[in-house]
Amino acid sequence: MIDRSGAALIAVDVQRDFLPGGALGVTGGDVVVGPLLELAARFRLRIATRDFHPPDHCSFVAQGGPWPPHCVIGTRGAGLHSAIDAIADIIVSKGSNRDVEQYSGFDAPGLAALLRARDVGHVVIGGLATDYCVRATALAARREGFAVTIAVDAVRAVDLTTGDGDRALDEMRAVGAEVRTCADILSDVCGEES
Ligand code: ZN
Repeated sequence: MIDRSGAALIAVDVQRDFLPGGALGVTGGDVVVGPLLELAARFRLRIATRDFHPPDHCSFVAQGGPWPPHCVIGTRGAGLHSAIDAIADIIVSKGSNRDVEQYSGFDAPGLAALLRARDVGHVVIGGLATDYCVRATALAARREGFAVTIAVDAVRAVDLTTGDGDRALDEMRAVGAEVRTCADILSDVCGEES
């Protein structure tokens, strides 16, 4: 049972650069949008995280990092998918310090405190990508003491190595996250619509 009064949806990094055609596009990444919108309609608090980098961020190849430049502050690619932008009650940014890589939404200043201040004890997580920022966000949420449900049809993996996404889901399960379909989650949400 998911009590909507104590739950929040976290849409991880549904940004143009992570969508097909983007600088670091996840194959099929746009399939997460529809399920996230279905979930968003049932939750009272919808958080969107975004990767939000300076142009010389340490994760970029030119600085010795693993990734091509992506989600650079002020560029179109850093923007959220417009439908996710529209349902986000709060947008939190991470990776804005050039010297620090931050995959987890809980690296964004104040996210855990904000959730606690709103009496949220359970987070439902979807977005991009399963094997990087979704994984890191889910593991951090468990460390922070939140109940975690992963919406498995609202995430998509990079799968640089085949199976990375499935291994990430196993890691999340191992720390107590539940992995469920959106339909299953929606059938289990209780409490008044506000
Ligand atoms: Zn990044």
